[in-house]
Amino acid sequence: MSLPDTLALIGHTPLVRLKGPSEATGCDIFGKCEFLNPGASVKDRAALGIVEDAEEQGLIGPGATIVEGTAGNTGIGLALVGNAKGYRTIIVMPETQSREKMDTLRALGAELVLVAAAPYSSPCHFVHVSRRIAEETPNALWANQFDNIANRRAHIRWTAEEIWEQMDGRIDGFTCAVGTGGTLAGVGLGLKAKDPNVTIALTDPHGAALYSYYRDGELKSEGSSVAEGIGQGRITANLEGAPIDTQFRISDAEGLAQVEALLMDEGLCLGLSSGINVAGAMALARALGPGKRIVTILADTGFRYLSTLYNPEWLAAKGLKSQAKA
Ligand code: PMP
Repeated sequence: MSLPDTLALIGHTPLVRLKGPSEATGCDIFGKCEFLNPGASVKDRAALGIVEDAEEQGLIGPGATIVEGTAGNTGIGLALVGNAKGYRTIIVMPETQSREKMDTLRALGAELVLVAAAPYSSPCHFVHVSRRIAEETPNALWANQFDNIANRRAHIRWTAEEIWEQMDGRIDGFTCAVGTGGTLAGVGLGLKAKDPNVTIALTDPHGAALYSYYRDGELKSEGSSVAEGIGQGRITANLEGAPIDTQFRISDAEGLAQVEALLMDEGLCLGLSSGINVAGAMALARALGPGKRIVTILADTGFRYLSTLYNPEWLAAKGLKSQAKA
């Protein structure tokens, strides 16, 4: 295959059958290999969708600056897309995120603004800081991934279509965790439009408020998680109207067990959100019963977390125990 330009490398990711999770549940569980995107995460799709939507609306043009608040992966996607299209990027990120994501952003030439972790209600939260920087910067676009539904449209148009084709139109369930909700809502809406019988499930980490919201209508969180890029406390514009049929809550320990099993038994090196997604897919498989065909998202590469998730000292400091053999 030859492609016309580097932006065409975004998307078209394969689906892979995950042997261990499939055998453990009697279902076929498939992972969408989003870590194979050029920026090594699912967020390249949202970045491209948001920038091209802004171009179509005439909101940005030559010499523009893209500004965004992000846990890192969207920033990496925007920096790549920005470089390919000739836009500068300013990325605001909480200092709690992995060193590797910061180094990658700097290497891509993004201007990195690190802020202390703060609740969404605080003006110091990374999203609000990024909006202010965009307002103060001439010729700037605030990507606004949480509430800009060009994000979920990218998943309706690309991710859901690819999954439907790759599954030959035979899919019983889909699940993933939520950062902005672009992936879950976009794939959910896209698949339901093809087949209303597909079960769409939320997989929520501890510390997020959506599990209780979809179960009994109340935004309430419990516990905490060290997973980066997921864990939402509000209904973002991307989540509005998302067709969620059922929900699961998955702990970091359950997610870590899947990350380690996928690495040691199947040779896949993934981030913690992917492990949580796979644990969620197994919970969905058990709820739907044997023989079902279920898809989840392998959201980013584990090489982004060598100093954290794959570092036994870091895990111990976070109270997480590795099951991996020495
Ligand atoms: N996993 C990782 C590693 C991420 O960076 C993100 C994006 N924040 C997600 C999952 C969730 O994706 P979305 O924003 O589409 O909900």
